[in-house]
Amino acid sequence: VFSTFIMLISFITLMIVRRGPRAPPPDMSEFRKAFAKAKNIAIITGAGVSAESGVPTFRGEHEKWRKWHSQDLASPEAFSRNPSRVWEFYHYRRELVLDKKPSAVHLAIAECEARLKKQGRSVVVITQCQDDLHRQAGSKHVLKVHGSLLETRCMSCGQVTVNTQSPICATLKSKGAPGANVPDAQIPVDKLPRCEERDCHGLLRPNVVFFGETLDSHILTNVEKEIEICDLCLVVGTSSIVYPAAMFGPRVASRGVPVAEFNMNTTPKTEYFMYHFQGPCGTTLPPALAPHDSEEL
Ligand SMILES: [Zn+2]
Repeated sequence: VFSTFIMLISFITLMIVRRGPRAPPPDMSEFRKAFAKAKNIAIITGAGVSAESGVPTFRGEHEKWRKWHSQDLASPEAFSRNPSRVWEFYHYRRELVLDKKPSAVHLAIAECEARLKKQGRSVVVITQCQDDLHRQAGSKHVLKVHGSLLETRCMSCGQVTVNTQSPICATLKSKGAPGANVPDAQIPVDKLPRCEERDCHGLLRPNVVFFGETLDSHILTNVEKEIEICDLCLVVGTSSIVYPAAMFGPRVASRGVPVAEFNMNTTPKTEYFMYHFQGPCGTTLPPALAPHDSEEL
C-alpha cells in the first residue's frame, strides 16, 4: 500500500512538472487589488506602445528601410562607415516621430502618474522607446534606456543636446525616403549635423543606444534603483527579447512582486509574470490604470 502511495505521489509530481510553465489566466480584478495597494509602480514600455501612436518598430523581419534592417544601420560600425546613410535613416525616423501624437496608452500612464502623486504614490516609466511621446503625454518620471531620437551627441566633445529641428540640417531636407530603390544621398560628412559648441564643430550622432553598445550607466543605475523599490510592475508592449531591458520584469518578479504583462502575444518572459493581459495595449492598459474605488480622488 505504501509503495503504491509513493508511486501515486511521484506520478502526481511528474504531471505537475510536465505541465510546465504557462501563462497565468488573465485576472483583472486580482490585478486591480494589487494596483490599489501599490505605492511605487514601475511601468516598463517598449515598441508596442510607440506602435499605438503609429511609430514603426523596425523590429520585424519585413520592416526594412531601403534594403536594410535596423540592426544593419543602428551600429557604431555602420555609422563610422557611412554616416550619411545612417543619418538619412535617423532623419526619416525623427520626422516620423515629430509627426506623431501620444496614444491612449501614453495618456493613461501620464494621467495615472499625476493622480497617484497627489496620493503620495509614485509611477516611473522605464522605456525602450526612442520617441518623446511619454513626455509629450505629460509623464514626468521617464527613464529612456535606449536613448532618444530627438537628442544628439557630439562625437568630439560628448555634448548631449535636445534637438527637435525639422529637418535637423539643410542637407537632409527631403532625404531619408525608405523605398528599396532610393539611392543614398551621399552627403559629405562636413555637411551632416555638426556640434554648435564653441570651437568644436564635431560630427553629431543620434543620442540612441546602437546595437552592440552598452546602456548609459547613469540611467541604468536609476533603473536598478526603481526595480528594487517597486511594489508593482507593468511590462507593456515589449517582446522582452532585447537585453538587458528584457530582464527588468523577471528581476522584479523574482522578489515576489506582482508583475503584469500587457502585450499582443505571450513572450519568452510571460511565464515569470503573475498576470498576462493579451491584446493591443491601447485596449488593455487604460482600464488597468483607471482610478480604483479605494482611491480618494
Ligand atoms: Zn562638440
